[in-house]
Amino acid sequence: MTTPAGPFAGPFAGPFAGPFAGTARLTARRRELELDALASGPSVDLLVIGGGVTGAGVALDAAARGLSVALVEARDLAFGTSRWSSKLVHGGLRYLASGRIGVARESAVERGVLMTRTAPHLVRALPQLVPLLHGLMRPGQAALVRAGFHAGDALRLSAGTPGRLLPRVRRVGADRARALVPGLRGAGLSGALVAHDGQLVDDARLVVALARTAAQYGVSVLTRVRAEQVTGSGARLTDTLTGESFLLGARAVVNATGVWAGEVDPSIRLRPSRGTHLLVDATALGRPAAALTVPVPGSTSRFVFALPQQLGRVAIGLTDEDAPGPVPDEPQPTEAELDFLLDTVNTALETALTRADVRGAYAGLRPLIDTGDGATADLSRQHAVLESPDGVITVVGGKLTTYRRMAQDAVDAAVRLRALPARACWTARLPLVGAPGHRDSRPAPEGEVAASLLARHGGAASEVLAVGEERLGAGYGAPVAEGIDVSRAEIAYALTHEGALDVEDVLHRRTRIGLVPADADRARAAVEEIAAKV
Ligand SMILES: Cc1cc2nc3c(=O)[nH]c(=O)nc-3n(C[C@H](O)[C@H](O)[C@H](O)COP(=O)(O)OP(=O)(O)OC[C@H]3O[C@@H](n4cnc5c(N)ncnc54)[C@H](O)[C@@H]3O)c2cc1C
Repeated sequence: MTTPAGPFAGPFAGPFAGPFAGTARLTARRRELELDALASGPSVDLLVIGGGVTGAGVALDAAARGLSVALVEARDLAFGTSRWSSKLVHGGLRYLASGRIGVARESAVERGVLMTRTAPHLVRALPQLVPLLHGLMRPGQAALVRAGFHAGDALRLSAGTPGRLLPRVRRVGADRARALVPGLRGAGLSGALVAHDGQLVDDARLVVALARTAAQYGVSVLTRVRAEQVTGSGARLTDTLTGESFLLGARAVVNATGVWAGEVDPSIRLRPSRGTHLLVDATALGRPAAALTVPVPGSTSRFVFALPQQLGRVAIGLTDEDAPGPVPDEPQPTEAELDFLLDTVNTALETALTRADVRGAYAGLRPLIDTGDGATADLSRQHAVLESPDGVITVVGGKLTTYRRMAQDAVDAAVRLRALPARACWTARLPLVGAPGHRDSRPAPEGEVAASLLARHGGAASEVLAVGEERLGAGYGAPVAEGIDVSRAEIAYALTHEGALDVEDVLHRRTRIGLVPADADRARAAVEEIAAKV
């Protein structure tokens, strides 16, 4: 077996993509062509079920090794947990605290891979500030936090991530602390500890970049296609847009459906835990440049974070609540969770936030493996690859940061169990669409591209603008609605290149305008007008 020589030395032409073969363009027409081709008989090496970060990662890994792959997603890319995260690319600090050094190191290594090779355009270094505020921490807690940050630094070093990407931990004075987070309470503030971690511009954008890169390597990426009657050798696939269904044969099947894994394979037992965030205007905290970390009163190990986000917002999270029962399509935050988040963050703020400041809120379910009775916060965040009695390979657990390693382990298992003819994994060296080194990436013309467009599209920003100009003409670079920092060109591109099939896909998963319901209401008419045009 050989490893391809360079990033694009893999096979490009999926068997079914027709005129789209070798491109990262996902369109309604491509979906139609590929569904028709698959329905007419051929089987694939690997069927991947679930279009979140895990499934998209598995599909890319397998195709880059030379396998023929179909990826089916019942709703839309990133419809599930993958869009409800804190959008952090963790260095594994919290796992270190509980002595799980292997999980912590895996996180640190994968953070480095994302930040240096596969998606540096989507991940930035985020300063994380722990205020040294009188009465905020329990005795000895600041020393523990400091020791943890130094251990995190050691992990970063051991993972080979340079200090120029993620600066070392340091102590700053009160003035500097308030310059980083102006909303911080001044009375009793003696300074702050500042460490750095990775932050995604948006979690759903990572999924879309993965799926598009996978498509370039020949994966049939099929949204609105539900898998049922799943076995180790195939599944019944139903196009939820037409109701038509067919059986697809596969030499191996990977179930990457996250919290829904037990519905696809009843041998899997999960114990979902709900995590909630709320969104406020960044101005309510004085437009912070760092994440504010606030200890939960009464706990030495739990914190609430106020994380600066794109589109002028700060996300405050998160909770960890047992969520038994049927898995909802879109989990909802509870009133008690919102109160808990506001009450905790307010212990560190000069001016308390109230319910009137809340612009939006979201909740996601962690797909945790059921290991018994402990609280879900204590369950392992490590992933597992499991084979069911009828041969379905499930990959579950883990986190966004470690998706690549999860994918590698799942494809390794499929290759071993089904004797698939595949090369070794090389995704750690494979730049995603928009990353430097991806064959379609272009440096953006200096000064001509908005920083927000670059942060979301990287080396594809020029293409986004070119598509906007061609399809929309004058005004293509203007915001989709007043005060919303997403251009009309990005809306067009979501529909022509990123596999958005309708207005809701655009509002909720290609852009994150929909995180604030009032913003979605303001942008909807313009998105509809653009969708009718492109
Ligand atoms: C609140 C919260 C915060 C988090 N924060 C972070 C963080 O900051 N950093 C980090 O690294 N990790 C974080 N995580 C963890 C991370 O978000 C998840 O581990 C990860 O997104 C799970 O992805 P997935 O692809 O396995 O599942 P999902 O994203 O849920 O994808 C599963 C997909 O399968 C599809 N599906 C289901 N059934 C079928 C079927 N029958 N046929 C076809 N498709 C089907 C669903 O529609 C869904 O899109 C967080 C998790 C939560 C809940």
